[in-house]
Amino acid sequence: MPTAFVAEFGSGRPVIGIMGEYDALPGLSQKAEPARAVLEPGAPGHGCGHNLFGVGSLAAATAVKDLIASGKLHGTVKFFGTPAEEAVGGKLYMLREGVMNGVDVMLAWHPDDETRADTKSTQAIVDVTVEFYGRAAHAAFDPWNGRSAVDGLELFTHAVNMMREHIRPSSRMHYAILKGGDVPNVVPEYGKVWIWLRDEKRELVDEMLGRLRKMAAGSAMSADVESKVTINGGDWNMLVNMTGERLAQQNLEWLGPLPFTAEEQEYAKSIQRANKIAEKGLNPAVKPFDANPGPAEGGSTDVADISWNIPTIHLSVATAPIDAPWHGWSVVACGGMSIGHKGMVYASKALAATMIDLFADPANVSAVREEFAKKSAGVQYTAYIPAGPPRLPTAP
Ligand SMILES: [Zn+2]
Repeated sequence: MPTAFVAEFGSGRPVIGIMGEYDALPGLSQKAEPARAVLEPGAPGHGCGHNLFGVGSLAAATAVKDLIASGKLHGTVKFFGTPAEEAVGGKLYMLREGVMNGVDVMLAWHPDDETRADTKSTQAIVDVTVEFYGRAAHAAFDPWNGRSAVDGLELFTHAVNMMREHIRPSSRMHYAILKGGDVPNVVPEYGKVWIWLRDEKRELVDEMLGRLRKMAAGSAMSADVESKVTINGGDWNMLVNMTGERLAQQNLEWLGPLPFTAEEQEYAKSIQRANKIAEKGLNPAVKPFDANPGPAEGGSTDVADISWNIPTIHLSVATAPIDAPWHGWSVVACGGMSIGHKGMVYASKALAATMIDLFADPANVSAVREEFAKKSAGVQYTAYIPAGPPRLPTAP
């Protein structure tokens, strides 16, 4: 991955790592204005705020580096530049190649519409392609000589939709049909569907994946065609480290509410008006610590895979209006002006302060690592990623 990198400073233990993302989303180019206004037609935009994520984490790493250089802290700080979170899961490949080995505690954050220590997990996901191979024939002249790959595909999606009644409420499945024949007068010889399965835990996703494999095979058998199931990637659910989250929470409370101005609140309300959602503005408050969070909600991240290998502390900081559509222009519009910049600087302070707590008191590192050891005991981590190098998206 040409945009992956590791930077480090200092020597010896503890080794504290921090991750930064910087990938964008297609088609979301947007000016720093509170209404849809394309900056560069067709260009990508930071609709998930990863521009802030990358720089905020880097600022925390360099602050800690300065403290190590001046002799005030002892140990090693490592910054991980982790590309392609959205489409590839860059962290999984960095993890697999061993570049994160030896890190005692890892930190990360994510832009959000509220500020909190993240005690709620994220969903596990597997990304699967199912292909069907039939035999082409003239659809009117000799259809009996053909076997339709699309028949197999339709039976498969029908089976998937019937499964919906017999899965847990926390399960999610969504698919897109990528290939379903070309013209009506040819019996289709090829069909392709792209499907994602999610649930609260990796083992629950694995169970659904097992059922999906049976449905692919059964549908192919019924249509007298062949099927092929390919795992493209996926993420685990997040292993939350409550000890680490409590450290982060103390620092959020020490920093206090975000200093958003009246102009920034007005900018946020304009965005909410444009999206036809309630004009609630920005939320400057630090959310009280949630020691008993409910089950993971929709959404997955490759940070979760790191959390099963290295104890991980994760926080969220407000950089966008309340309820603004994520992966949309509203997030880009705030990421390019003072709202996003304020959240980013705030996040870097909270992260740096939490790292200082880890460097300054070895008991904090041991407590975080102890909880991790307890919670991950007996779990055999295996990544969903296929062998070989990542499938990097090509420039349009
Ligand atoms: Zn994101």
